[in-house]
Amino acid sequence: MIEHTPKIIDNFGRPHTYLRISLTDRCNLRCFYCMPEEGIELIEKPNVMTLEEIIEMTRTFRDLGVHTVRLTGGEPLVRKNFGFLVEELAKLGVKLKLTTNGIVLDKYLDLFDKIGLRNINFSLDTLDKAKSVFITKRDFYDRIMQNLELSLSMDMNIKLNMVLIKGVNDNEINDFIALTKDKDLVVKFIEFMPFKGNKWDWNKGVGREEILQTIESKFGHIEELQNPKHSTSSNFKVKGHKGSFGIVSTITNPFCDDCNRIRLTADGKMKNCLFATSETDLLTPMRNGTQLDDLIINAIKSKKHARDGMEVKMEAEHYEQNRSMISIGG
Ligand code: SAM
Ligand code: SF4
Repeated sequence: MIEHTPKIIDNFGRPHTYLRISLTDRCNLRCFYCMPEEGIELIEKPNVMTLEEIIEMTRTFRDLGVHTVRLTGGEPLVRKNFGFLVEELAKLGVKLKLTTNGIVLDKYLDLFDKIGLRNINFSLDTLDKAKSVFITKRDFYDRIMQNLELSLSMDMNIKLNMVLIKGVNDNEINDFIALTKDKDLVVKFIEFMPFKGNKWDWNKGVGREEILQTIESKFGHIEELQNPKHSTSSNFKVKGHKGSFGIVSTITNPFCDDCNRIRLTADGKMKNCLFATSETDLLTPMRNGTQLDDLIINAIKSKKHARDGMEVKMEAEHYEQNRSMISIGG
């Protein structure tokens, strides 16, 4: 891996070395916490970064010190010619990671094996087929589970992303922990977060303490693990289990102090934060032949310390100005 000196440094002295690129705002699922019921205004095709532009953007960020790139969406694997893109990105010498709903993962696992993409965040909110249909509004559960097994059999590093919603899947917390007994995977419990149009209400959320208590009441003592640098979750293990679990407590205990993440939307807008309401257009200047370095280095200076300024609580007048999660790329 080529390491470049980090040059994207915010006013809190945080070097930004991790880029999350949304390849598309299209998706083959309609998870209710992500995609607003009324749908979203899709990015018009001419405004979507081409594959060549994504590669060029990645090269620019890499030269400014980004060493890790996560591909996300929408559903990244529905992007046309995804295979070509990921092979080209691998040649840039950055560490590639992926977040996917797993529906078409089988098409790409051999390629991932070949290019060394092994870190896959796999969204799975339930182990119940009927509930999966309720959450995603589509019936792909069997395929998703087959692809999960296939990925594990190929020794991919799998993190299961589970967004917890009260009364929907919170009764499955310990079923997911049971999966970690014999399977070498990580379950990431994610607190329900607010975005434009997702009818967020923290009364529907399940917080870190409640998650830990639920697990402890069934499995007893939980070991706390050392969190890797820049980790967005606090990490734990049930004694004797092969796998482990983490909690992404963005709402009750945000992990912003050490943030090193930048986001790029499918239409080439740089976001300093998942909750940022302001964006920096990189695509138009790129198309005009402008060098992006200064634009990026200056854009990061407006990054707030935490949650785009929502330090104390989530504010509707703020997050309703943001995009919907499906078009940010979680
Ligand atoms: N389609 C891919 C997938 O589902 O993995 C990638 C994009 S999706 C937006 C990325 C992650 O964001 C998923 O794990 C999803 O569960 C999470 N997510 C979406 N909406 C969320 C919300 N309101 N709160 C917390 N996490 C959310
Ligand atoms: Fe699609 Fe992922 Fe959002 Fe579900 S969470 S609607 S799979 S982008």
